[in-house]
Amino acid sequence: MGTPQAPRTAVIVGGSVAGLFAGNMLHRAGWDVAIAERVPDDLASRGAGIARHVEMEPIMAAAGVREAGPLGIQVDGRIAVDRHGAELGRFEFPQYLTSWSYVYNPLKAAFPAERYHGGQELVAIGRDGDRPVARFADGLEIAADLIVGADGFRSRVRQLLAPTVVPRYAGYVAWRGLVPETALPAAFRAGGFGQYCFCFPPGGQFIGYPVAGADDSVAPGARRYNFLWYRHVPAERLADLLTDASGHVHDYSIPPPLIRPDLVEGLRRDAARDLPKPLAEAVALAQHPMLQPIYDVESERIAFDGVALIGDAAFVARPHAGIGVLKAGEDAEALARSLARGGSVADALARFEAERLPEGKAAVALGRRLGAFIERGHDSPQSDPALGLTTEFILRVSARPPSHSPDLLVPA
Ligand SMILES: Cc1cc2nc3c(=O)[nH]c(=O)nc-3n(C[C@H](O)[C@H](O)[C@H](O)COP(=O)(O)OP(=O)(O)OC[C@H]3O[C@@H](n4cnc5c(N)ncnc54)[C@H](O)[C@@H]3O)c2cc1C
Repeated sequence: MGTPQAPRTAVIVGGSVAGLFAGNMLHRAGWDVAIAERVPDDLASRGAGIARHVEMEPIMAAAGVREAGPLGIQVDGRIAVDRHGAELGRFEFPQYLTSWSYVYNPLKAAFPAERYHGGQELVAIGRDGDRPVARFADGLEIAADLIVGADGFRSRVRQLLAPTVVPRYAGYVAWRGLVPETALPAAFRAGGFGQYCFCFPPGGQFIGYPVAGADDSVAPGARRYNFLWYRHVPAERLADLLTDASGHVHDYSIPPPLIRPDLVEGLRRDAARDLPKPLAEAVALAQHPMLQPIYDVESERIAFDGVALIGDAAFVARPHAGIGVLKAGEDAEALARSLARGGSVADALARFEAERLPEGKAAVALGRRLGAFIERGHDSPQSDPALGLTTEFILRVSARPPSHSPDLLVPA
């Protein structure tokens, strides 16, 4: 019998969902894993509600998470309404709506705390022979068999290895808000609150649905109403939305407390004009709406010499398909599976890239198609019939993985 081999080593850059999926899977496969996360403390919730896809269950299990509690709030399907609340269409599709922390918290709990290093910012990647070396802001250097870039849409790892791939502004923003169930008018609580609702105000799309409460409770009375209002904003006007009261223009996104009050007042005024009354009331009741400019990130390579990109670092699809978290999990699963086949890290990364590059591109293409009418500032999804964005198509395809709808990438 030979001497046992030392475990292979991985440094994972980014300790959000993609990093935790990969960290848990590689740790369970016997790798010596360290996660380095720039933020020192627990990550704040990334906003609000996300769709929980059935494909998520085996991936959570592979990451070592055993689901115990409820998966979120179940809705029966989707409904579209016009400006006056009259029904435009309906699609039966039972689905759980959940929150980002429902995924993040158990993944974090499953990962060994002593291997998770908060407050570690990667600044460079060097080489030590044939191994990549992660260099951190505090001077720490770690050589490893594998570095995983799971550092989000403005990825430093991607910037270092593929500097020409940058987030591209999609021509619109999402205003997001959350309202405690108990703050909503009684009539809405008894009816519309429980629906996954779509509406198409001029130049945009509004969706609203119930999500867990701030403490992750899904008990009636403790839940919240989550809305997303996608609005066309030409690139030359985006800087104004990202300018705070002191005149500072923020890059890419702006922290919610710094959003100028005049913009929030304008949002509420427009809601009263363009949305059915209950939805406009929800917008008015949201205490601190968030503003999220929408970007596409499309990589041409996700495997480099000993380095892989996963999650939003690799591809960012517009949120219409609601697959960012699932895609992060699938990327991590494909990477761990390929490495488990044995052989060299280089061969494993080549297989991983061959499998996940087309998936990432398909997700970006789907998001682009679903958002094309907002990007162009059209009054309605049907303004340009060539886009094929019928109400039926939007209700059927939104917030579902592309694999559910074989026709969806072919413009009608
Ligand atoms: C409006 C909107 C709605 C969305 N809705 C949905 C939905 O319904 N369903 C869904 O699945 N997804 C949704 N998403 C997408 C989802 O939030 C992301 O896809 C997901 O969070 C990506 O995870 P990630 O781990 O790849 O990146 P992130 O969550 O961005 O994490 C990257 C991490 O890397 C860290 N980091 C960055 N740079 C460094 C560095 N140099 N060194 C160390 N650490 C670093 C960051 O601090 C961060 O913690 C939505 C997104 C938006 C904007």
